Amino acid sequence: SADHKLLSGVLDFSRKSIRHVMTPIAKAFSISADALFDYETLEAIMESGYSRIPVHDGPDRNIDYLLVVKHLALLSPEDRTPIRTILQFYGKPVQRMFDDTTLDKALNQFKRAGHSNLALVQRVNNDGPGDPFYETVGIVTLEDVIEELIMDEIVDE
Ligand code: ADP
Repeated sequence: SADHKLLSGVLDFSRKSIRHVMTPIAKAFSISADALFDYETLEAIMESGYSRIPVHDGPDRNIDYLLVVKHLALLSPEDRTPIRTILQFYGKPVQRMFDDTTLDKALNQFKRAGHSNLALVQRVNNDGPGDPFYETVGIVTLEDVIEELIMDEIVDE
């Protein structure tokens, strides 16, 4: 029943971590800071259907900012503005959470941050012989967390 589903969602909430609900980084749609905002980029963004786009930069594809698609509506693709330039005006610093953050803590962090409900998920990689380093393993949004709470697919428009 719906009640039962909601209850089991609540019970899992402080036990499950965002690792289990995130979108793996390989599946994330992101764009390069070096790209131009032209028709091709606009089409790719519209086709992705996402409302927030992480921007990667440099050979390590570090993600520090994201773009909110609705802000791009004010720009003309004819101008071929570099994404890097757009970031200076509209870029939002991206939040980070560790992959073992529990869903209740993630919900609180999203509430506290109060904006752009998307975070990068990182873990400490100490698999190799070298020094441990932070590795980005996914992205998580408020929707991923809430969906788990109500244990049902949220139908998005
Ligand atoms: P949107 O508003 O863009 O549809 P939601 O926050 O509603 O995003 O999330 C819907 C699903 O899409 C979630 O599983 C989330 O992890 C995933 N998602 C959100 N943005 C991206 C993106 N840029 N690339 C890949 N997956 C994403």
